[in-house]
Amino acid sequence: MTDNDGATAAKVDVLFILAHPDDESFGFGGLMAWAQSQHLRVGLVCATRGEAGEISHPSLGTPATLGAVRERELRCAMGIVGVDPVRLLPYRDSGMQGTPGNDDPRSLARADREAVLADLVSQIRDLQPHAVITFGPDGVYGHPDHVRIGEIATEAVMVAASSADPFLGGPWQTSRLYHMAVAREDLIEMSQRETGPFANTPPDVIATMGIPRSEITHVFDVSEFIDTKLRVLASHATQLPYQPEDGGVGDPAMRPRLGRESLKRIPLPWPEDRETADVLDAFNTLPDPA
Ligand SMILES: [Zn+2]
Repeated sequence: MTDNDGATAAKVDVLFILAHPDDESFGFGGLMAWAQSQHLRVGLVCATRGEAGEISHPSLGTPATLGAVRERELRCAMGIVGVDPVRLLPYRDSGMQGTPGNDDPRSLARADREAVLADLVSQIRDLQPHAVITFGPDGVYGHPDHVRIGEIATEAVMVAASSADPFLGGPWQTSRLYHMAVAREDLIEMSQRETGPFANTPPDVIATMGIPRSEITHVFDVSEFIDTKLRVLASHATQLPYQPEDGGVGDPAMRPRLGRESLKRIPLPWPEDRETADVLDAFNTLPDPA
């Protein structure tokens, strides 16, 4: 484990527990920028260094250096939005379903479940987040690392609150748990365009991706923070589907979609602390379903 904050225990308002460098930026670069504007403390635990991904341009890295390059890109991106600490776990990117990375003994897919759970319980107890944000069972588009880290992080929130495994730290009850939520309707619409992500994904696969829009509990309008989000995204140069040029990133047509980020609140089996639990509610554009 590496760490931006040394050995000192920190407390954070929001803790993201995700799988790869860039998961946080595409999903939540705007929310992170908003949180920074509100002086909220945001931390990130990232399970891998994204070693199995494609490299957008050969000048940026090789398969052997990619993990180190992506860790650097991630730390640079998180520096822009003040996310601290950024902690990387020692697992390897498993790659997309059915690729050789799935069989690598160092991969998150092959890692011992109890070891990953212990890692996450100790992180939650150490960082004492009010809210944890991770992947849901859909993994947005079914990436095995997204599904696995989300499933184990969701359990880790429960275990961290119990008196189990005291050697991993004292019990900590997280007030809110959220899963990253991308509306299936939006993914279907994206897949129907001739270019862009999911253009070649079969309709029966698309039909299982994301979650129905009706299940989304929190939608954040981050359009005010879009320039910061684009800078955060640009830090992940090895991941972008185009070469960076003129300091710019991406297609202007993406901007309206990048301006919305969303979550699904997952009920927890304990009463919430009303005083500290509503930091994200203040930015939610959906009516409170409660
Ligand atoms: Zn990912």
